[in-house]
Formats: sequence, structure tokens, C-alpha cells
Amino acid sequence: MIFPTLLVITAFLQPFTTSSADSRCTNIGGSCFDWRYHKCIAGYETGRCSGDNNRRCCKPCDNTCASDEASYDDRKCEDMGGACMHNSNYCAGRYFSGHCGGPAARQCCTSGSEGSCNLIEYSSAHIHGHNGLEVRVHRDFVGAMNKLNTYAGACHVTVYVTNAFRKAGQNLDGTVVPPATTSNHLVGHAIDFNLNTPNGWCNSACLAGQQNSAAKCFTDKAMNSGLRWGGVWNTPDPVHIDDGLNVYKYDEWKTLYYELHNNCS
Ligand SMILES: [Zn+2]
Repeated sequence: MIFPTLLVITAFLQPFTTSSADSRCTNIGGSCFDWRYHKCIAGYETGRCSGDNNRRCCKPCDNTCASDEASYDDRKCEDMGGACMHNSNYCAGRYFSGHCGGPAARQCCTSGSEGSCNLIEYSSAHIHGHNGLEVRVHRDFVGAMNKLNTYAGACHVTVYVTNAFRKAGQNLDGTVVPPATTSNHLVGHAIDFNLNTPNGWCNSACLAGQQNSAAKCFTDKAMNSGLRWGGVWNTPDPVHIDDGLNVYKYDEWKTLYYELHNNCS
């Protein structure tokens, strides 16, 4: 009786091999892929798969999701030679909003080559640019932005971004100057913001005071998710949220600084 033995072994091994390593992904119905080679319709989440940072969790796409995807009008994107996809997918060029059908996170990835700018023009239901500011962040910060969008919705606030990616100074000949500070704004891994809340507008002083319950709900959730809120720093910066790339992964920060300052206008 070989078959039952195999069955037992398989049932025993599985939880301890592939499925346990990726269980944070499979538990939500997703599958782990190398995001560079697999397009994921419902979008990727990081931190749910074993292996290096290129293995990401592709969220499940049910029948409704699949038929919606097929029904969107993407002609504006196709006309510019791009492809529409959830903006957590790998895009060798850069993403443009307003060129694809469907939710705001579905954006147009233009085919790019080495040396292209990997900033994404971000927009979502609960996060907008203040006074029409174009919110540009690095593609690896989109996951953080999507989390903040979720928290904003849960706390009934709207995030108005006053500052996202910003360039440092350049020499007159256009060469990149080494940065004076290692701000995460210089690599598209930070935002400055004010909030519109049910209790009124919440600016820097209001955020710092932590008396506005909806605003506190938002900044608490951001901190609990592993992001950094500047309001609790020794030198407080209550309008600022980032992922600490300059502190935790300085080498990556430096690489990104030169990449974005050479390739992004
Ligand atoms: Zn800031």
C-alpha cells in the first residue's frame, strides 16, 4: 500500500516546506511570484513571501476581478505604447495615471529601458495632492502609500500631500550633487501631509497636538504598520511619514538617490 503512505508524507511535509514559508500570502488566498516576471492583476503585497524582496505576494483575482479587468477601456495607455496594470507590479519604465480604466491604482506602465525614471504618479481614493500637487513616489514606496490609503479610509480622513519626491540641487552642468541631507523625500520614500478630518482641517500644529481623534487614529495606524511618523521624533516633524530607508538601508538609499536624480526630470 504505497499510496496512503505517500499521502501521509505529503500531508505532513507540505505545511513545513513551501506553504509554511509563504503562509502569510497563501492565508489571504494569494500566490508568491518573482514580481519581475509575473504580472499580477489584483496587485502585489510585500512582506508575505519567503526569499528575497523580488518574491512578492500576488493577491487573488476571482471571476469578477478577472472579468472587470477584461472590460476596462485602456486605449489611452495603449496609444502611448504602454500597458495598464495595478501599480504594485514591476514596471521598467514609469507609471502614468489617468490613462487606464478601472480603479485609481490601475495605471499605465510605459515600456522603458535602463536609465528610465522609476517614480510613480500616485493617486488613490483617500490620498490627493494638495493644491493639485503631482504626488510622485518611488515604485517601492507604493505599497506604503496603499497602506496609508487604507488607514485614511478606516479613520475617515483624507490625506492631502504637500510634498512627496523632491529633487536636490544640481550643478549648472546638470551633474548630480551629493546630498547635504539624507531625506527620504529625495528618493521618493516620504510624504508631508495635512489631513481633512470630520473635526476639521488638521495641519502641523493639530497633528502634533494629537487631540484630533481621527488624525491620531491615522498617525497611530501608520506607526503600528512599521512606518515612521515624524511627530514622535526628538526634533518633531508632525507632517512627515516615511519608511526609514535612509536609516535602515542606507546603501539602497544612496543607489536610489543617484538613480532618480540622473533619470527623473
Ligand atoms: Zn517630510
